[in-house]
Amino acid sequence: MRRNDREAFDSARSKHERIEREMFQHLLDNATIPLVGSGIGSVLVAGAMFLHTRSPVALVWLLCVYLTIGVRIALIRRCRRRVAAFGYLRSYAFRFALTVGLSGCAWGACAYLLAHASDGPTAVLIVTAIQGMVMGAALTLGAYMPAFFAFSVPAMVPMIGVLAFSGQSAQIVIAIYSAAFLVLLSLIAARFNRSLRQTWQLRFENEDLVRSLTEASDKLALLAHTDGLTGLANRTRFDDVLDTQCRAHATSDAPISLILLDVDHFKQFNDTHGHLAGDACLKQVARIFKAACRDGGLAARYGGEEFAILLPETDLAAACAIAEAIRERVAAWPIAHDMSTISGVVTVSLGVATLDRSAFATPADLVALADAQLYLAKAQGRNRVSHHVGDVRSIRAR
Ligand code: GH3
Ligand code: MG
Ligand code: MG
Repeated sequence: MRRNDREAFDSARSKHERIEREMFQHLLDNATIPLVGSGIGSVLVAGAMFLHTRSPVALVWLLCVYLTIGVRIALIRRCRRRVAAFGYLRSYAFRFALTVGLSGCAWGACAYLLAHASDGPTAVLIVTAIQGMVMGAALTLGAYMPAFFAFSVPAMVPMIGVLAFSGQSAQIVIAIYSAAFLVLLSLIAARFNRSLRQTWQLRFENEDLVRSLTEASDKLALLAHTDGLTGLANRTRFDDVLDTQCRAHATSDAPISLILLDVDHFKQFNDTHGHLAGDACLKQVARIFKAACRDGGLAARYGGEEFAILLPETDLAAACAIAEAIRERVAAWPIAHDMSTISGVVTVSLGVATLDRSAFATPADLVALADAQLYLAKAQGRNRVSHHVGDVRSIRAR
C-alpha cells in the first residue's frame, strides 16, 4: 500500500471509529429516561396484572424487570467509564444490546401473559403501550440497530403471536397491524441511524477541514516571513519588527541596537568557489548569526549577503560584544576564501548602532546609523566591528 493510500486508509478508519464512538455515546446519553419509564410503567402494569389475575406471577415479573434495570444501570455506568478511557469498544456495545434484549424479553413476556388473559380493550391497551415503547426505542436505541432489534423484536413478537393465533378476527387484525408497525419502526430507526451517522461524519469532516486550513495558513504565514535559503526572518518580517520596536523605543527608556553584517568580498567567493558554495556559505554564517542572537532579538536576511540583527533592550556595549563574538566565530569557522585580500577564510564586517535614549527614531534612522558604521568597517579594512552611539539627531543633522 502506498503512503498516501495508507494515510487515507488510516484517516478513514479513525473517522469511522470516532463516528462509532459518538453513536455509542448517544446511546448511553439517552439510556436513562427509558429506564425511568420502564421502572414506573412496570409497577403500574404489575399492579394491574395482580389485581386482574391475583397471581404471584405479576410480582415475579416485576422483580425480573427491576433486576434487568439494575443490570442495565451497572452496565451503562461501566460503558461510560470505558468510553471515556478507551473510546468505542465493540464488545461493550454488544453487551449493551444484550441487556436491552433482557428488557425486551421482560416486556414481551408481560404482553404475552396479558394478551392471553385479557379481553379485547385490554389487549388494545397492551398493544398501544408496547408500541409506544418500541417507538421510543427507535429514537433512543436507533443509534445502534442491534440494540433496537434486541428490544423491539422480543417485546412485540410474543404479543403478535398470541393475537394472531387467538382465532378472533379483531385480534388478528391488531396482530397484522402490530407486525406492520414493527416493520415501519425498524425502517424509521434505520433512517435515524443513517442520519445520525451522516451528521457526525459531516461534523468530523468540517473539523478536519478547519484543522488543515489552519495548518496551511500557519505554514503560509511562516513562509511569507522566512528567507528560503537561510531560514532566517526575511526582509518583510524584519521591517515589521523594526517598525514595532522603534515605536516601543519611543515610549521607553530602554536602548535598542541594530547590527548590520555584510560578508567580505563575497562576489569573489562566488566567482572562485561557485554560487552553490556561496549559498552554503550564506547558510553557515546565518546559523552563526542566529545562534548569537539573544532572546527577544531578531536575526534576518536583509538582502543578498547582508544580514541584520535587531536587539531590543540592548545597550551599545552588549551589542558590540555580540558583534565581536560573531566576527570571531565566522573567522574561526573556517570557510576557505582563496581570493580574499584580508584572510584565507570568509570574514564579515559589522556596523553597530544603538539608540540609548527615548526619542522617536524612525526605522530608517536606525538602519542609516548602522549602515554608516558598516560602511566604515569596510573602509577601515573589513573583518571588523564599527559602532556608533547617540540619538537620532546626529544622523538627521547629516
Ligand atoms: P564587500 O566586501 O565590499 O562586501 O564585497 P562583496 O563582493 O561582498 O560585495 P558585492 O556587493 O559586490 O557582492 C555581493 C555578492 O553577493 C554579489 C552576489 O552575487 C552575491 N550574492 C547575493 N545574494 C546571493 C545568494 O543568495 N547566493 C549567492 N551564492 N550569492 C549571492
Ligand atoms: Mg559583501
Ligand atoms: Mg553587500
